[in-house]
This record gives sequence, C-alpha cells and structure tokens, in this order.
Amino acid sequence: MADLSRVYDVLVAGGGNAALCAAITARQAGASVLLLEHAPRAMRGGNSRHTRNFRAMHAAPEATLTDSYLEDEYWDDLLRVTGGETDEALARMTIRASSGVLGWMGDCGVRFQPSLTGTLSLSRTNAFFLGGGKALVNAYYRTAEALGVDILYDTEVTHLAMEDGFVRMVELTCHGFPETARAKCIVVASGGFQANLDWMRQYWGDRVDNFVIRGTPYNRGRVLKDLLDQHVAPVGDPTQFHAVALDARAPKFDGGIVTRLDSVPFSIVVNRAGERFYDEGEDLWPKRYAIWGRLIAQQPGQTAWSIFDAKSTPLFMPSVFPAISADTIGELATRLGLDPVAVQSTVAEYNAACRPGAFDGTKLDSCRTEGLTPPKTHWARPIETPPFSGYPLSPGITFTYLGLRVNDRAQVLMQDGKPAANLFASGEIMAGNILGRGYLAGFGMTIGTVFGRIAGTEAARHARN
Ligand SMILES: Cc1cc2nc3c(=O)[nH]c(=O)nc-3n(C[C@H](O)[C@H](O)[C@H](O)COP(=O)(O)OP(=O)(O)OC[C@H]3O[C@@H](n4cnc5c(N)ncnc54)[C@H](O)[C@@H]3O)c2cc1C
Repeated sequence: MADLSRVYDVLVAGGGNAALCAAITARQAGASVLLLEHAPRAMRGGNSRHTRNFRAMHAAPEATLTDSYLEDEYWDDLLRVTGGETDEALARMTIRASSGVLGWMGDCGVRFQPSLTGTLSLSRTNAFFLGGGKALVNAYYRTAEALGVDILYDTEVTHLAMEDGFVRMVELTCHGFPETARAKCIVVASGGFQANLDWMRQYWGDRVDNFVIRGTPYNRGRVLKDLLDQHVAPVGDPTQFHAVALDARAPKFDGGIVTRLDSVPFSIVVNRAGERFYDEGEDLWPKRYAIWGRLIAQQPGQTAWSIFDAKSTPLFMPSVFPAISADTIGELATRLGLDPVAVQSTVAEYNAACRPGAFDGTKLDSCRTEGLTPPKTHWARPIETPPFSGYPLSPGITFTYLGLRVNDRAQVLMQDGKPAANLFASGEIMAGNILGRGYLAGFGMTIGTVFGRIAGTEAARHARN
C-alpha cells in the first residue's frame, strides 16, 4: 500500500516503459519504491502502450531477431537519421546496453513474436512484443506489483522542490487532492510535452488546433517545465517534434498506431486547393514517413488528402477507418469535400506527366513524372483505374524533442554542468540527448529501457549511501 507519510528510497514520476524499468530495477536492487502515474489505471502506460517493438544490438540470432546487428551499423543508422544531433558516448552506451536486455525483459514477463506483415524489413533489427506495448506494460506492472513497488494512479507530480540541485520534496495531486511525498532519490520518466497544446501553441500558433496527438493526453510536460524553470540544463530543440501523416478522422489523443497512413508513396497528395505540394515518391517510405506530418502541418488548415486508384489499394496497410471511394475523380473530390474541378485538373496533369516504367513498390523504381512541379520521382502511375479512393490526412504528433540533459549514470545535469544530487531521468524526457532529430524505429523503447535500468540502479545505490 502506498504511504505518502513514508520516506521512500526512490520515487518514480511516470508510468510508462521508462518509469517501470526504473522502478523494477530499483526494487530489485533492494530499494523501497513509489511510482506515481498521472493516468488512471485503465489508461496507464503512456505512449509505451502504443508501441510494437524494440531495437536491439545482437551478434547472433536471438529471441525472434534474425542474423546480427552490430554496434557500428546501429550507430551508423542513428547518425544518419539524427544528422549528427546525438551524443556519441551516450548513444554508443545505449546501443551496447540494448544487447542482452531482452533476457531481463523476458524475466519481467515480456514475450516476443516474429515481426508483423508489412514490417519484415525490421525482423533483423527489432524485437516485436507479443500483444504489443499494452502487453509489455501490463507485464511490467504485474512484475512491479509482485516485487512490492507501491503504485498510485491518477496522481500527477506537479512540482519538485529543489534546493542547490537537491530535490527536497515532491508536490502532487492524488485523485485531484494536493499532497506531498518524500524520497531519497527521484527518477523522472514522465515523457515529452506534445499533449500540452498551449505549450505547443507557443511555437506553432493556432495550427495546433488541427494537430492530432498520437499518444496519451497525460504527457503534458509538467515535470519537464518545472525542472527547466529550476536551472536544470535543457537538451533538444523545443520547437521540433516527430510527426507522421495520420487519418484525419483519428481521435484528438491516443489513436495509437492504427490511424497512421502509409498510402502516400502510392498516391498523390493534395491540399485544400486541390493542388499537390511535395514529391510523394521522393524516397522509400521508412525514410520519408516522418517528414509528412510536418509537410501537412504547413498546408492551409493543416489538412491534406491522399488520392489513389484501385491499383494502389492493396499496396499499403490501411487505416482503421475505411477509405472514401467513388467511381470518378470528380465524385471522389466532392465526397472528400474538395473542389472537383481543381482535383480533376490536378489528376489529369499528373496522369499526363507519368512516364512508363517498371513498377516495384518495394524499391526505388523507374516510374516517375516528367515536366511536373513538384515531380513524383518514384511509383508514379496514372490514377485511372476505378474505384478511386482517398483519405483525409492530419499531422500526427508522436513526441517532442525538448528534454533534460543527463550523463551516462542517468543523473540530471544542472545548467552549471554539475549533476543534480538526487535526481535521475529516463525515457522520452531525456531522449533528446541521443535522438536530437529524426527517428529510428524501435529506439524510443531502447532509450527508455536502457536509461530506466541505469536510473533505477543508480537511484537505489545512491539511496543506500
Ligand atoms: C503510436 C505510437 C507508436 C509508437 N511505436 C513505437 C515502437 O514501436 N517502438 C518504439 O521504440 N517507440 C515507439 N513509439 C515511441 C515510444 O512510445 C516512446 O519512445 C516511449 O514510449 C517513451 O517511453 P516513456 O516511458 O519515456 O514515456 P511514456 O510511455 O509516454 O510514459 C510517460 C508516463 O508519464 C506519465 N506522466 C506524464 N506526466 C506526469 C506527471 N506530471 N506526473 C505523473 N505521471 C506523469 C504519463 O501518464 C505516462 O504514464 C511510439 C509512439 C507512439 C505515439
């Protein structure tokens, strides 16, 4: 039973993967642990419950991972997506620690499955969770409870009272009532701030009203902002976020993975004026999907429409919502709420510009347009086979990049470069140290697991001393 009058060894703020890994590890090291999750029990687990996989270094086939994936290749992949906005020492440490952690996850009840259809390219690098992130989170909660971690749901950490880099006391609201808690060490694992639309509005203005947040509404950056206001060193660009093209019919929060749309490379994408605005076939989709959220965010009304014909329908994983279809382009445009004349003209111009080529949806093929602005450089085939279909698209925000600076012991660093005395961080709240830009599939869970375990170990050790 959680007891707020007690001084715990370790208090963990957050209830997703990073928090659970920290809490379990600290408890396994003998510390008394209190975990505070803002969400109610039924919604526990943050964005981690929407995840599917974990990127792991391995020298030989392991669990469901095939072949090998060694440090230098992993590091090259990370360097490419971040464009160098990463701390090499922390990144390499994370990569190395990702090998061997699958066993610990298994001991905590996490099970793996072969990679899903449509994600086979990840079978070598990424371990998929059987039952997805929700099963992983449930397994970790079961383990934490069995070990004796005390857990409070519906409990928001509102303020960490710091003095000279030492957290004296934690202020919180528990089921809406103000309370305080004390602990020798604190681990913050409360995610990014993407669900705080007022904070996002500072950088993006009223466009945020048309953004969709793919994950939990509870990641509002309250702890992050509180610590940055108390001279903790920031990391990452506050204006930047990871965003994908999402079905515009998705709920404002928590739609998860099933509302993502991968139709773009096999379609043309038009804005509210019925005009194309970017090369839909610029590169292979895994290398381009993450730019489309931002591209759509820059269009009028932050909306776009992906339009394709019957040839393309089987080529991508559909959204959970059915495509809107019609027998003619004009009728489809009307159903999508677009000007039929404008869309007919855009499609006619595009069709006329398509050059014959050998279509191959799995690689950069020779089907391209000629004399069209913007061009479509691959997978360009005339849209001429009914039924014609379309999806409305919105920017779907996955996470923000702003975070807390940490060292290799997961200690939070103050603006003067010194570590805070009893404060550690793990997961999205510090991921910007390693992932300053871009994204590598499965790496969010790797950072949270590795740093969660380091933070748990270090906090438990520190509390004992
Ligand atoms: C749809 C979707 C799919 C994804 N798929 C993958 C994938 O397959 N693989 C991958 O590696 N990454 C994936 N990601 C990214 C991944 O979700 C994150 O990198 C990872 O979950 C971060 O873990 P975390 O524990 O730091 O944050 P979260 O899991 O988001 O947990 C944050 C927790 O903090 C709690 N919290 C917030 N504020 C407070 C407060 N003030 N007080 C108390 N508690 C608070 C929240 O309720 C939540 O429980 C995906 C993200 C989304 C949205």
